[in-house]
Amino acid sequence: MSAVAEQTRLETRLADRINALEESSTLAMTKMARELAAQGHRVISLSVGEPDFKTPAHICEAAKKAIDDGFHGYSPVAGYPDLRKAIADKLKRDNNIEWKPENIVVSTGAKHSLANVIQVLINPGDEVVIFAPYWVSYSEMVKLAEGKSVIVDGAFENDFKVTAEQLEAAITPRTKIVMYASPNNPTGAVYSEKELREIGAVLEKHQGVYVLADEIYEYINFTEEGHFSIGSIPALKERVITVNGVAKGYAMTGWRIGFIAAAKWIADGVEKLQGQVTSGTNSIAQKAATAAFNGSMEPSLEMAKAYARRRDLVVGLLKEIPGFKVNVPQGAFYAFPDVSYYFGKSDGTTTINDSDDFSNWLLNSFYVSTVAGSGFGAPNCIRISTAAADEALAEAVERIKTAVATLK
Ligand code: PMP
Ligand code: GLU
Repeated sequence: MSAVAEQTRLETRLADRINALEESSTLAMTKMARELAAQGHRVISLSVGEPDFKTPAHICEAAKKAIDDGFHGYSPVAGYPDLRKAIADKLKRDNNIEWKPENIVVSTGAKHSLANVIQVLINPGDEVVIFAPYWVSYSEMVKLAEGKSVIVDGAFENDFKVTAEQLEAAITPRTKIVMYASPNNPTGAVYSEKELREIGAVLEKHQGVYVLADEIYEYINFTEEGHFSIGSIPALKERVITVNGVAKGYAMTGWRIGFIAAAKWIADGVEKLQGQVTSGTNSIAQKAATAAFNGSMEPSLEMAKAYARRRDLVVGLLKEIPGFKVNVPQGAFYAFPDVSYYFGKSDGTTTINDSDDFSNWLLNSFYVSTVAGSGFGAPNCIRISTAAADEALAEAVERIKTAVATLK
């Protein structure tokens, strides 16, 4: 039996839930970019959504101190009390949400927090309304819990945002959760206070529906109005699960700290699940996160300024490419051009039929790694991370411009 056939035979022995699961396209593209770079190609990797800054020094110092102070053992399953208190203080200060430390559960990244909540609330067949474009892992997390994703598309003309009317039309008696990210990955769209209050008014009428608000890009917001948390609406407070973490705002992706803030029975459910699956997360990273939430926001504000500048640079250059339709992201660090003008065209060897073809062709022929919009529920677009040096971004867009000029 050939090695490929043997691999295929073994894969069929994996559990059905794993065979049915899509691979994370953000991570798959990043892996391919790394492999091409290891072969000696000059790859510009704009696939993973990850700050290119270092974690601020005062946070690193807190981690070093935690090692020296002997925080080497298991931590409480829901996180150290001082971290949960720092998060409660942060929620009050930044988000106008009042929860006690007992309402907070710390996990191994916001990704883990989101997956926990879905496992804890979703029964087979329960519906989860997901605002699209959405982060690639949402629908797969729902699938793992045997829930049903109900995708509601935000129109390009509305900056890819879903309206209250659209939400109203999507809710059924089986709806259990509505989930969205603002600022959004992959579009950079930011839901305003007005839009979230309109959405909130719809949700007030549906008492059995919970809201999973992913606020991981909170500190990367270019709007004058700033961030608004739906969990601050008193009538919804008990039904909103706010998810956030340190990865994006403090440049701490590898430290793996995320959290939920929610009604006690939900927090208890997450703690129970975590107690059987992962235990409390990394003790040293928790001490670093405590320093992040209690410390100066100056480095985060500086990073946000750099992301705003790069947004202007990349969006400006992308708009010059014939056929691209480009929105202006209001937060996060992604550009998400609609490239469908090129579908059906060919460079003589490769025909581009969809966003996956487009993204793979860019990587393999021009060594720019992006992520196809298909995994984000937006098959006309590609995602370009703008969390890279200005020169790399300018060269990447130049390569894309050269690339599409070969398509007829
Ligand atoms: N939500 C969104 C929208 C994201 O883009 C990401 C990517 N990091 C996460 C959650 C997960 O963040 P973390 O690294 O804290 O797991
Ligand atoms: N959230 C980032 C992204 O969208 C990190 C990779 C991932 O976990 O998907 O690229």
